[in-house]
Amino acid sequence: MKTKDIMARLQAKYPGENEYLQAVQEVLESIEEIYNQHPEFENAKIVERMVEPDRIFTFRVTWVDDRGEVQTNLGYRVQFNSAIGPYKGGLRFHRAVTPSMLKFLGFEQTFKNALTTLPMGGAKGGSDFDPKGKSDGEIMRFCQAFMYELWQCIGPDQDIPAGDVGVGGREIGYMYGMYKKLAREYNTGVLTGKGATWGGSILRPEATGFGALYFTQQLLHKHGQDIAGKRIAISGFGNVAWGACKKAVELGAKVVAISGPDGVCEIPDGITAEMIDYMPVMRLSNRDKVQDMADKFPGQAKFTAGKKAWSVKCDIALPCAFQNELSEADAKELKANGTWCCCEVSNMGCQPEAIHYFQHNGVYFAPGKAVNAGGVATSGLEMTQNAEHISWSGKEVDEKLHFIMESIHAQCVKYGTQPDGSVDYVKGANIAGFMKVATAMLEQGIV
Ligand code: GLU
Repeated sequence: MKTKDIMARLQAKYPGENEYLQAVQEVLESIEEIYNQHPEFENAKIVERMVEPDRIFTFRVTWVDDRGEVQTNLGYRVQFNSAIGPYKGGLRFHRAVTPSMLKFLGFEQTFKNALTTLPMGGAKGGSDFDPKGKSDGEIMRFCQAFMYELWQCIGPDQDIPAGDVGVGGREIGYMYGMYKKLAREYNTGVLTGKGATWGGSILRPEATGFGALYFTQQLLHKHGQDIAGKRIAISGFGNVAWGACKKAVELGAKVVAISGPDGVCEIPDGITAEMIDYMPVMRLSNRDKVQDMADKFPGQAKFTAGKKAWSVKCDIALPCAFQNELSEADAKELKANGTWCCCEVSNMGCQPEAIHYFQHNGVYFAPGKAVNAGGVATSGLEMTQNAEHISWSGKEVDEKLHFIMESIHAQCVKYGTQPDGSVDYVKGANIAGFMKVATAMLEQGIV
């Protein structure tokens, strides 16, 4: 297989699906060499099959807003690949959601889930519904209308959605309530990220951020460093950024910046426990403004409109917000300010030119599908608990999460170590995930 030829075909077939094409290109470039050493992959057309989702559901979601006006959105579920387990992946509610975005996320999810060591296939879904400025009642009515369509596509052994951008515990609760009513059974295994009193895994809310910090710590240890005492800049202030802040502080680091679509909050003395507790309050307000942090903690946090977290001096950058949020110019600014490590926590958070710049200018870089896999891994643990009708303690879940992140790091090192001894974490993660999925596809025949 030649990446160039496959990409040319996909570009002609899906013009304008830029995020999807970007995600496929990165994976194909990483695996091309190893793929071509396995003629059995080529004979079974593994790559041609792997880059297409198994199926995509598209549906209309109609609901009534607080003024009594009828609103119409589009909902989707992209079931990407089920070679190693049932479809699994989050739901994203964001005004920019398109099939291209969900195809890129479903494709990434397939490899990420393979890295977790758990048996989960890849999927993603969501809607172009914009939670910004919506009341709690509007969120509830939208979630109910969304589930009214989705419920027949999902099931504990079929497809298990969870949260993503714009979908947290509140939204999962509203969706589960509707699912239960429609299905007429208490089938907790159908969604993950549920409340802790009704089948949710303790630590699932923290898991993506915690896992990302465990991974970062392992990467640093591999390179003779430790996270304690390091200055960290984090983008976003949602669930993932919140968990990352919590664990960073616990490990002795100083979080010197968080950001939002409106700008950056610089926190020269490091984020405090009170500020971390305020992050979920900001999210639930649906205002989407990080400035609220500076207004609440004047003197501790300084807000600058229109600036990104990458303008703040730090040792480690952790993108925790959205795809392509870190450009080549940002990468250069970080490097010039002394940053020497970037662990991508958001899915495809760095633009390809930024990754290239990091990798060729002495900045350690690890990709989202490895760094953020602790979230979906803990969803996998939630599925196990639901299947057994039991609940593990926070300590048990944390230990398992720690073990899984160690294993993901080890897989990256195994497949990504270069002849000069350095580790290419992008290659490592992509090859490790690919080999697992490709082998399963091969063993299951042409379907
Ligand atoms: N949305 C998260 C991700 O990108 C979590 C998915 C899940 O828990 O199923 O991996």
